[in-house]
Amino acid sequence: MEKCEICKKEHETLMFYSGKLEVKSHDFHDWITDVICKECAKEAGLSIIECHHCKREFTEQNHNGRRINENYYCYYCLKELFTKCHSCYEYEKRENLTEFRGGWFHETCLENRREHMTEWESEPLNLENNKFKKLKHKRCFGIEVEIDDDDLPLYELQETCFASRNDGSLENGKEFVSPILQGDKGYEAIKEFCKITKFCKHNTRGSVHLHIDARDLSWVKIKKYG
Ligand SMILES: [Zn+2]
Ligand SMILES: [Zn+2]
Ligand SMILES: [Zn+2]
Repeated sequence: MEKCEICKKEHETLMFYSGKLEVKSHDFHDWITDVICKECAKEAGLSIIECHHCKREFTEQNHNGRRINENYYCYYCLKELFTKCHSCYEYEKRENLTEFRGGWFHETCLENRREHMTEWESEPLNLENNKFKKLKHKRCFGIEVEIDDDDLPLYELQETCFASRNDGSLENGKEFVSPILQGDKGYEAIKEFCKITKFCKHNTRGSVHLHIDARDLSWVKIKKYG
């Protein structure tokens, strides 16, 4: 039980209000910064809104929730039930959104984005439970692939774990950068990338760079790799 700041009576549920408030049967209240009861709120002419989900009541001036499809949701329920589309930033139920690279999108927003997106980040490869049958060494590595082709299958490439960069050294193409690769999982990631790019145009401007994790190597060994 808490005391209403205006009528001083105890109430089961109170609502937060901060601001100047005039209640007819009480004195004028300057800057109330605490909680008031529903009766006092009504008497002061505040409209009360109820959360569609948890049924908690709020004064309209002091909610942080939002009206979605005619229903009002309080701040807490909004966070729990809805997710913001990462493209249009509208709240939406999770089941109506599609996941893409750790973000959630409306299907139409995602399609728009895919059409216009030419640069994007790589997706880290989960290297847990990795196997080492195809690539026996445990050393981590990464590759950069430059492809000079003005008709790249970008839509499919966005599904791989590779990042895309607009590269100044290429006329029309792009550079694709892998996340940290290792063992068979790294091998599979490269295979998937090659499957998509095998029909791309190749010329002398394109190239492949290999980076290996050399943090534990001595200079003598690094020379050997080179
Ligand atoms: Zn009261
Ligand atoms: Zn609620
Ligand atoms: Zn959207």
